[in-house]
Amino acid sequence: MEFEAVIGIEVHAELETNSKMFCSCAVLDSTVAKPNIAVCPVCTGMPGVLPVINQRAVEYALRVALALECEIAHTSIFARKNYFYPDLPKGYQISQYEHPLARNGHLKIQTAEGVRQIRIRRVHLEEDTGKLTHIYQEEEAYSLVDLNRAGVPLLEIVTEPDMHSAEEVRSFATNLRSLLRYLQVNSGDLEKGVMRIEPNISVRPPGSKDLGTRIEVKNLNSFRALERSVAYEIKRQSSEIQQGKPILQQTVGWDENLGMTVPQRTKEEENDYRYFPEPDLPPLVIEQEWIDSLRNSLPELPEAKLHRFMTEFGLSEYDAGILVAERSAADYFEEVYRYLVESSREEIRPKVIANWIIGDLFGVQNQFGVPIEQVDITPREFAELILLVSQGEINQKTAKTVLVEMFSTGRTAGEIVADHGFSQISDREYIVDLINQVISGNPAQVQEYLKGKDAISRWLFGQVMQAAKGQANPQVVEQELESQLAALRQTDGL
Ligand SMILES: [Zn+2]
Repeated sequence: MEFEAVIGIEVHAELETNSKMFCSCAVLDSTVAKPNIAVCPVCTGMPGVLPVINQRAVEYALRVALALECEIAHTSIFARKNYFYPDLPKGYQISQYEHPLARNGHLKIQTAEGVRQIRIRRVHLEEDTGKLTHIYQEEEAYSLVDLNRAGVPLLEIVTEPDMHSAEEVRSFATNLRSLLRYLQVNSGDLEKGVMRIEPNISVRPPGSKDLGTRIEVKNLNSFRALERSVAYEIKRQSSEIQQGKPILQQTVGWDENLGMTVPQRTKEEENDYRYFPEPDLPPLVIEQEWIDSLRNSLPELPEAKLHRFMTEFGLSEYDAGILVAERSAADYFEEVYRYLVESSREEIRPKVIANWIIGDLFGVQNQFGVPIEQVDITPREFAELILLVSQGEINQKTAKTVLVEMFSTGRTAGEIVADHGFSQISDREYIVDLINQVISGNPAQVQEYLKGKDAISRWLFGQVMQAAKGQANPQVVEQELESQLAALRQTDGL
């Protein structure tokens, strides 16, 4: 029997503000900063201190909630979530519980059956915990505590259990990541732990409306781990139920090497945390005016951009999807396009520009391991390279070589082409000359061609290109070769 998977997601995203959620300590990159250099009595929970709400963090949270089309609460309440853990010196985490910042939003995802909306249950603000590093040595084992991260603003986004496969979960997570990056509130760096995704998964017999027992997966630091762990859990739970075994509600971790989930702990009940309103903070009141002005200042979001790229530029959904996944890539495309239109030296279709960026620029970027926002080639310089090809100065193959050199040296395409003498030969007389040499130098092959073996013409084309050291304009070679061969067939009476 095929079971139906029911999956919801909890995402924790650090907000990239300058200072922490309730104090003025700096928010640092905890993967590189020295430990415990951004700590103060407030974020370490010394007695008698008072937290103060970071307005920028609230603004960032509202931007996300608005982009997810949530209803914003005019009054939300911070609460204490009480528990003990060595990375939490206060003994409680300030979070929002009964009265979150926002509810009832949604985010669209692409599924095998088309676009679907995943409902967002709630979006709330809280503070991050510190970080523990566990050291295992031969004689001893110990843990190091770093509180740089304690008190960093954290946004929790919780979906309804609207997803049914590992692919849908991945699609949701990548779309959400893209949204956070568009809003410039989070880098989306899963490896650094600034965005943490926890799916909860249950399965049920097809047609059933009841929810099965949920398993929550923790510590996923890549989309690959997310997708694999969800697929694994669906399979494991289905098989256990088929064997008549009960599913225990628990939290599991993902072991990348074993390719399986491993039990961590059975889930606490909600009331274990003894939530109560944070006595040191007033209710968070948000004026409608502020909400309106933030809504009006939202950037064009990925979904709207996708549709615009398809209608305005006539791009396929696939190409547009790749370009808009990163705001910087979409901007780059538009800047190249605008420059080419303004320079009006040559009409270049948007599809051609998209191909150049997706196929060539992204390729070289990957080769050098540089993200697009750090690429040193300006859109204008890249457009000049495209122009060199469309004007027949160099061919596509040479352009790829030039691009790699632009990347590694920072020089312009024009300089590189001039320096290496890469200029393409479009001179028809010269090309006709080469074709005649190739034809007279290969009489046997030409005879075969004349007897009807058409494939030989490709071979002859290759010979001509080789004779021109790859620098002949291929369109001109093709046209001229075709007409020379046609002439030969005529005289041969074939
Ligand atoms: Zn602090």
